[in-house]
Amino acid sequence: MKIQNNHVVSVKYVLTDNDNNIIDKSEDGKFSFLIGKGNIIPGLENALIDKAQGDVFDVQIEPKDAYGEYNKALIHKVPRTQFPPDMDIEAGMQFQGQTPEGQMTVVKVKEVAGNDVMVDNNHPLAGVQLNFAVEVTGVREASKTELEHGHVHDGNEHHG
Ligand code: ZN
Repeated sequence: MKIQNNHVVSVKYVLTDNDNNIIDKSEDGKFSFLIGKGNIIPGLENALIDKAQGDVFDVQIEPKDAYGEYNKALIHKVPRTQFPPDMDIEAGMQFQGQTPEGQMTVVKVKEVAGNDVMVDNNHPLAGVQLNFAVEVTGVREASKTELEHGHVHDGNEHHG
């Protein structure tokens, strides 16, 4: 069965950057998601279409099909006073934040300059070309409920 939208696909993968650093890999050798629902980055979804169980392949994904280009407009100057006074703020620190739309985001301190903190709202992988080594370990039709929810119901996950 060839992978198409609305299929549940399981893969093993290793994700590296262009310097061969491992960014991520599938835990327990298995990662399942629903194709065509934006569960994964578009570049990987596109690469999986028409593949089948047992296929092994490498794919390079450009930032625009992954976590986006690096956007300098997403660097903001925040007054030091907006951070807890007893916290040491240093370049490279990361904080969990929320966008105005309520999405979780990671904010990274780029630089501390006097009373100003330069924070970077880019995704940590923005501007990074992603190299995936993938093995397709399973393909099946999604259930009706999975399609309604837009995500996979594997394992013991129960919810309304
Ligand atoms: Zn659900």
